[in-house]
Amino acid sequence: MLEDKNQERTSLEQLGEFGLIEHLTQHFSIEQKSTIKGIGDDAAVLDFGTKKAIISTDLLVEGIHFDLSYMPLKHLGYKAVMVNLSDIYAMNAEATQITVSIAASNRFPAEALEELYAGIHQACKTFGVDLIGGDTTSSLTGLLISITAIGEASEEKITYRDKAKPNDLLVVSGDLGGAYMGLQVLDREKEVFKVNPNNQPDLEPYTYIVERQLKPEARKDIVKLLNELEVLPTAMIDISDGLSSEILHLCKNSAVGCNLFEEKIPLDPTVIAACEEFQVDSTMIALSGGEDYELLFTIDQNDFNKIKGNPSLTVIGHMTEPSEGSHLITRANTKIPLSAQGWNSFNKS
Ligand code: ADP
Ligand code: MG
Repeated sequence: MLEDKNQERTSLEQLGEFGLIEHLTQHFSIEQKSTIKGIGDDAAVLDFGTKKAIISTDLLVEGIHFDLSYMPLKHLGYKAVMVNLSDIYAMNAEATQITVSIAASNRFPAEALEELYAGIHQACKTFGVDLIGGDTTSSLTGLLISITAIGEASEEKITYRDKAKPNDLLVVSGDLGGAYMGLQVLDREKEVFKVNPNNQPDLEPYTYIVERQLKPEARKDIVKLLNELEVLPTAMIDISDGLSSEILHLCKNSAVGCNLFEEKIPLDPTVIAACEEFQVDSTMIALSGGEDYELLFTIDQNDFNKIKGNPSLTVIGHMTEPSEGSHLITRANTKIPLSAQGWNSFNKS
């Protein structure tokens, strides 16, 4: 797929390391005033004045974190940036810079890496983030991408995972389960394609969930919204691994318990339809699916009026005393302990 996308094939050796770096980074511009020096010296130089610097890094490995047979490289570049920006936003900070390091085997022509960088470029432009450096090297087989995201926030705005209190409301942005169901659709099409390569998949009905998988958007807008609403979350985390595991992180770090209400979990109609088609429980998918990159946070009850009725935010539960534990309250009003896999006794009646 990668090879037949571009007619041209410039080998990485042909360009050389410096030629390649120059080629990949030539169109990036500097927007942030905190960026004093970007690409081109031994190190970048940043100045955040009185603000705090927020740093997060991720490593993505081909075959482990992404599959190039259905992930176009441009999307991969975009998503790799989103995954990192999401961590910065989860601190209630503004993302300002990224570094990008790649290792590629000679299976990848320069044109393929250009596609990757086109996605990275689009992400930088859309989110106002500067590319300020990285490293480029070869690998024996696959592609590796490591991105470090940098952000800034004033000290009092930073939201950690450990300040949720009993009776705080538990809130989530957007809706859940889409990215996982999108992956199910893509996996199925990949199998069909293996059997009959002429079969053109009709992904139209699945546009939303496939996009949630291939082109997630980090919730910069939610950080802005909370600021405008003058709501400072007591704790916040981004949902990369599924709702239940992130709730448990908040509970553990803050030493609180939680009641999560099944009927409140926000699901898009296309996610519900896909769950019916694949015969999986939509609550299970929302709880354990992962990769939605929504923000999960807790707020003081006094702030409820400020967020009430906002279409981007849903109150899904509340925190409790730690002795009460962490539970899912089902639609049938039964109380089931939450586990990192969703809930403990999923297969009971
Ligand atoms: P060094 O020898 O100090 O490691 P490099 O030759 O690797 O420097 O990099 C030269 C410049 O290009 C540095 O500013 C570095 O941060 C940047 N750079 C290198 N690789 C990448 C990349 N893949 N993406 C963005 N910037 C890069
Ligand atoms: Mg280097």
